Amino acid sequence: MKIEEVKSTVKTQRISSHSHIKGLGLDENGVPIQFAAGLVGQENAREAAGIVVEMVKSKKMAGRAVLMAGPPGTGKTAIALAMAQELGNKVPFCPMVGSEVFSSEIKKTEVLMENFRRAIGLRIKETKEVFEGEVTEIKPFETENPMGGLGKTVSHVLITLKTAKGTRQLKMDPSIHEALTKEKVVEGDVIYVEANSGAVKRQGRSDTHAPEYDLEAEEYVPLPKGDVHKKKEVIQDVTLHDLDVANARPQGGQDILSMMGQLIKSKKTEITDKLRVEINKVVNRYIDQGIAELVPGVLFIDEIHMLDIETFTYLHQALESAIAPIVVFATNRGRCEVRGASDIISPHGLPLDLLDRLLIIRTCPYNESEMCQIIKLRAQTEGLSIDTEALNELSKIGSRSTLRYATQLLTPANLSAKVNGRSTITKEDIQEVGELFLDANKLDILFLIHVLSCAL
Ligand code: ATP
Repeated sequence: MKIEEVKSTVKTQRISSHSHIKGLGLDENGVPIQFAAGLVGQENAREAAGIVVEMVKSKKMAGRAVLMAGPPGTGKTAIALAMAQELGNKVPFCPMVGSEVFSSEIKKTEVLMENFRRAIGLRIKETKEVFEGEVTEIKPFETENPMGGLGKTVSHVLITLKTAKGTRQLKMDPSIHEALTKEKVVEGDVIYVEANSGAVKRQGRSDTHAPEYDLEAEEYVPLPKGDVHKKKEVIQDVTLHDLDVANARPQGGQDILSMMGQLIKSKKTEITDKLRVEINKVVNRYIDQGIAELVPGVLFIDEIHMLDIETFTYLHQALESAIAPIVVFATNRGRCEVRGASDIISPHGLPLDLLDRLLIIRTCPYNESEMCQIIKLRAQTEGLSIDTEALNELSKIGSRSTLRYATQLLTPANLSAKVNGRSTITKEDIQEVGELFLDANKLDILFLIHVLSCAL
């Protein structure tokens, strides 16, 4: 298998509501700036998180973990993600919820192990032969639908490149066109094309966040011989879980380890402990040879009180491992029962020996002006236009219920605005959708009224 074909298995959905977060927003002394890097307020928690990041960087976190404790919607996930971003570019962040481990099909410890491996990155450095060229034209090629159906279909894409030896044309898979368009590759950009596979890599451009990116070329006609080949160091970031998945797939020919010069003979259809051990061996060898580097990321486990004594014991052991990610737990519970050990009541439902290893960070509810700043930021990120009155109304709603409830009203409020022929969300839209969708507090009150009316 080619290393470029190892698809990332990042859990994007859970992170998308945090797409405005770019880091912890601390100054050079580690002091939080009120509004920076997409984070607003919550200064104490951010400063503490900054100290944890420093401890991780100086390798003083081994065997320990972090617990974020605070009410719902106070930024626990957001701050954990920011910690991963502070640790460096492409450091994996894997969010999960405690209750995920209770699946009827997969063992609890297996779910935890999978997520641990999602949070451990591997940066692989390879030297490849590439052509360098300036894009002069990208042209999708339409042909009649091959299935005899109506309409046309893009059969391939022609990329014209100005290379050292003149003009060259590359015939690429249509997915390349989509990806190039998405990544806003424009004429004049310099790209590298891998001599063997045709994978495209764009040179970093200052107007985009991503410095470089990779594209796969499925159908590729190699450039004519005689053009100038260059050696280029190509860096590929994958997680251990990506490697597990790539090697467990039943289809033939995609064994990443064979690409790395190794061969696991049998084709595996599921991820087994044995497969993981083999992958670890090869990974370790490549680390020793300086080809690969481990990048421990952040594993975020929300609602930690949902785990039980068995999984806590497993976690405890996993934290001791030499290649553990930074584990950040979160909970909004105070003292409660440890699941699976009903005779033990402890803070946050955590066994005391695990609690002993934790650095605890508290998050506090936001005031109205902080709510307002965060909601405004979310609206901007989602490309929604909202007027000041509507923002204030949403902030009030957020203070009464939760920040998450308030931000969730943005999309329905935008629909309401559209229905009323407006492109900006106004106070009326907020009030309208606020009456349609209940928050948890209103639901409690309605339930109480219902119980009382039944009793009378
Ligand atoms: P829960 O306990 O329900 O899991 P949480 O404490 O993890 O909640 P988040 O999911 O981090 O809360 O926050 C809810 C939303 O508000 C997210 O979209 C998050 O990005 C945003 N948010 C929270 N705190 C901040 C902050 N300080 N600055 C900017 N955005 C924030």
